[in-house]
Amino acid sequence: MSLANTPPFETQALLAEIKSWVEIESPSRDGAAVNRMMDKAQADAIAAGTRVTRLPGKDGRGDHLLLTSPWGEEDEPGILVLSHLDTVHAIGTLAGPAPFRIEGDVAYGPGIYDMKGGTVIAMAALRHLIAMGQRTPLPIRHLIVSDEEIGSGTGREHIEREARRARYVLVTEPARDGGKIVTGRKGTAMFRLEVKGVAAHAGVRHQDGRSAVKELARQIIDIEAMTDYATGLTLNVGTIGGGSGTNVVPQEAWANIDMRVPNQDVAEKAIARLRAIKPYDPDVSLTITGGLNRPGFEKTPAIAELLEHARGLAAEIGFDLQDLSTGGGSDGNFTAALGVPTLDGLGVDGKGAHTHDEQMYISSIVPRARLMLRLMETLS
Ligand SMILES: [Zn+2]
Repeated sequence: MSLANTPPFETQALLAEIKSWVEIESPSRDGAAVNRMMDKAQADAIAAGTRVTRLPGKDGRGDHLLLTSPWGEEDEPGILVLSHLDTVHAIGTLAGPAPFRIEGDVAYGPGIYDMKGGTVIAMAALRHLIAMGQRTPLPIRHLIVSDEEIGSGTGREHIEREARRARYVLVTEPARDGGKIVTGRKGTAMFRLEVKGVAAHAGVRHQDGRSAVKELARQIIDIEAMTDYATGLTLNVGTIGGGSGTNVVPQEAWANIDMRVPNQDVAEKAIARLRAIKPYDPDVSLTITGGLNRPGFEKTPAIAELLEHARGLAAEIGFDLQDLSTGGGSDGNFTAALGVPTLDGLGVDGKGAHTHDEQMYISSIVPRARLMLRLMETLS
């Protein structure tokens, strides 16, 4: 059975809308480009009849948008829908390696899956409610941030403030593996290790040198060995550097480390262990900076209950909704850590996030929009 054109949504209309958003490129670090995308989203939200608050960006990042249903009081607990409109793709991706195009059921384009598609369907659901004059039991607040792909450094305060007045959070990150939604995510931490040794001429005074590169090499083995797949803790030394020339015993070396944690307990222990590493060579010093960026997002009983509710709605619409837990972080990590029941991965289905092969399954647009609408209508 095809669900592609069941009321109140129409596939081609939503696809055209998604296309118009994908055609405004919006890499996270280009605040002006992200603001062009926010201008478009703001205009569409005003046309949809939502109340719109533009939250100024800072540190060179784009602005954020808060769209609110015309019903509901300021302090009334509501549903927070969480989206981002920045992408990982540089300006020129659309004209170069990843143009917008359609092949059968697949639409390609930078940010189409992560997550302009999901943001459009959430806005369409709210627009439908407003057009019908249909007031939901809980007010709806749709927050769209500008810097999710680089850790939500400026979006986080708005996400946490809105989560505190939310009873539920619905995140429009892409669905995966055949439409599965996300009910658990690892926390992410980032560190930098700086190693300082003693420089010396490699030919004349080798014995006086204390190699920072040699020390780093030993530390990398130890850091990677902290990985424990049984608990879900992983450490990845992703980039390294050091030394000034082949004929010099290296004075400096560095590494950037990505740590993923399942929960706060594992996070605290692993971070303490990493911060306590000691040099093998007493004449070399180590400095570790960084810390937890996004806390772990665990499937609590309240999240399991919310999932069951969503599964029931999906069954009424005509599809089987499954869930999974993933190692990738999202803004859902922040809201789940505040104890607000959060469902993530409610956006469109597809694959290839963060690659030039990024794609959305067109047939997923309407069923996912209907699920979002039914969640808005029924959560109380
Ligand atoms: Zn995303």
